[in-house]
Amino acid sequence: MNLANKTLIDADYLASLNPAQRTAALETEGPVLILAGAGTGKTRVLTTRLAYILQNNLAYPSQILAVTFTNKAAQEMRERISHLLGSPVDNMWIGTFHSLAVRMLRPHAELVGLQRNFTILDSDDQLRLIKQILRAEGIDEQKNPPKLVLSIISRWKDRGLTPEKITSSEQTGSHLLIDVYKQYQERLKILNAADFGDLLLHCLTLFKENPFVLEGYQQQMRYLLVDEYQDTNISQYLWLRLLAQQSQNLCCVGDDDQSIYGWRGAEIGNILKFEKDFPGAKIIRLEQNYRSTPQILGAASGLISKNSSRLGKTLWTNDKAGEKVLIRGTWDSVDEARFIGDEVETLQRQGSPLGSIAILVRASFQTREFEERFLKLGIPYRVIGGPRFYERLEIRDALAYLRLVIQPDDGLAFERIINTPRRGIGTTSIQNIHIIAREQGISLPRAALLFCETGAKGATRTAIHKFFEDIARWRRLLETESHAEVTKIILDESGYTTMWREDKSADAPGRLENLKELVNAIEEFESIPGFLEHVSLVMENNKQSQEDLLSIMTLHSAKGLEFDVVFLPGWEEGLFPHQRALQESGNAGLEEERRLGYVGLSRARRRAIVTYCLQRKMYQGWQMAVPSRFIREIPTEHATLIQPNGNEVDARPSSYSYTPPPAPAHTFKNGDRIFHQKFGYGDIIDIDFDRLEIEFEHTGTKKIAANFVLKA
Ligand code: ATP
Ligand code: MG
Repeated sequence: MNLANKTLIDADYLASLNPAQRTAALETEGPVLILAGAGTGKTRVLTTRLAYILQNNLAYPSQILAVTFTNKAAQEMRERISHLLGSPVDNMWIGTFHSLAVRMLRPHAELVGLQRNFTILDSDDQLRLIKQILRAEGIDEQKNPPKLVLSIISRWKDRGLTPEKITSSEQTGSHLLIDVYKQYQERLKILNAADFGDLLLHCLTLFKENPFVLEGYQQQMRYLLVDEYQDTNISQYLWLRLLAQQSQNLCCVGDDDQSIYGWRGAEIGNILKFEKDFPGAKIIRLEQNYRSTPQILGAASGLISKNSSRLGKTLWTNDKAGEKVLIRGTWDSVDEARFIGDEVETLQRQGSPLGSIAILVRASFQTREFEERFLKLGIPYRVIGGPRFYERLEIRDALAYLRLVIQPDDGLAFERIINTPRRGIGTTSIQNIHIIAREQGISLPRAALLFCETGAKGATRTAIHKFFEDIARWRRLLETESHAEVTKIILDESGYTTMWREDKSADAPGRLENLKELVNAIEEFESIPGFLEHVSLVMENNKQSQEDLLSIMTLHSAKGLEFDVVFLPGWEEGLFPHQRALQESGNAGLEEERRLGYVGLSRARRRAIVTYCLQRKMYQGWQMAVPSRFIREIPTEHATLIQPNGNEVDARPSSYSYTPPPAPAHTFKNGDRIFHQKFGYGDIIDIDFDRLEIEFEHTGTKKIAANFVLKA
């Protein structure tokens, strides 16, 4: 790169920043915290700062560490810097916490008892390992569900706690779990493997036990930059603090109002700690929003102002007014999808690229209705951050049941579900069935029956017989019951729904919602074969690749992104704010939901359209829906409300004052077994609104807020 060229670009990219942004980008020395609202250019400042450091030779690319929230964001930052500097830049440490930590860990793996080629386990493998340990120790899996044990261990890891650090005084009553944790870590070492939490935890151990390694990295990393700082957990914070100790050149950008991963261990408190741990840190606030119109900004700011625990900030924009946020009532979810489909077509006709439009949902089941509508209208779309509805694991499993009921020779469907949920039919049996099928030239289900007559052992034989009896019974039921009803029966009687209900992982409730949505979808068809054909055709249609696609994603995956037009459907009590968040975390949960609403609205550049349904089809049938309290919280001067009948109204419907019944009463009942991080296991003996009286195994009776305990 020649020098003249360099200066020219320099002038360009710095000139486009406002004074506060420029200060933030140019204050390269010493700790800096940039605390600012959505769309104020935080990410842009971070990128510019990085380019500035490189361009002024303050450091080599390999001496800069930049943390982004996703791999995609890392890629974008890399491209942006290359673009700013006019040439590609390699060797930079840009990535997520996990990817950067593993990069530091590998060369020194031996020092934490691993080999350099260690594997990173996925959650399936982790679970299998936990189960092995529980079994080996004779620990009751009913009382200590493996998923719960795993999530407790993961939360410990998020907090930087190795087994040794969890002192028994702090963790009364959970000796058993600490022991499982210890063994789990030992087993991982034998396997030469690490889980995601370990990547940071091992780094911390590595640094602590080997000061020379830490010093090496401290000297190397001259500048550290962190985006989306409000969603870091304690381990990540400790890691940053160690690495930045020497250079002190740590710049974190974040927005407390956009902290939406509390449920995954993120610590909003890290923002407050920053000033304490880095005395003399500069706090820079950016207040000019460059993304949205004043109307959208007013709506988003009005909504978030209803949260009580926040640092508070002002936002303004130079932009011209723009349109008010449209709040549109619809009759039901079909009507909602139709309305949004029509709007999208109008936008297309006006020349808007589909890539500039997004639909942000609260729960993943909501995507189904939109996907169907867009397929019908021929609007190409993609679902970001997850598979499309009919490709989801639980939907594929459920479809496999239906396929086998309709088509007894469907070997693929058979193989998918014969042992899902577990029926004690192991891999050896399945291999044997395969051998029979090949030798006899028959389908797998037929081979399975043959296997029962010839080779199968008692328990396996009974299980296979029972399975086929069930399938036959469900097939007969189709003659008398509606196909949607039969689908429900299949999901219940097969134990499939129960399997997910008992599953303690974070995604299980969403999967149950998807299954309910599947039943809704089936109701729209004449018969199961008709429905199955629809699904195959839909999936086939979907395969064509397209450049310009509309985006559908959850609010959580939309963080940091922006679109010209944003649709926010399903703003109804129970769906958004989501009932589960309220049940599990009470007011803190409600405030996190409100921050999600703020994230959603503030993704929009030109237009934001919020929709709600008057009724929504739930598992039990049609249910009256109540518009979300968040709708009422959007200031009237920034929003227009149109009812389903097309009438524009000023006043908000009175039903907005609805408050759902106190949630914990629903989730917990007397006698439930629970787990508390500090006091361990116990049983609920009394419930008083959101306070639970719990008899703990080791520490006697205590009254505890419901959001501090987990159902065991
Ligand atoms: P979020 O909180 O949503 O992550 P952010 O604070 O990171 O937002 P950016 O994404 O960096 O904000 O910027 C928002 C938009 O404003 C981007 O399109 C960016 O290019 C634009 N922008 C930021 N600063 C300026 C500026 N000084 N002049 C013009 N456009 C700007
Ligand atoms: Mg950003």
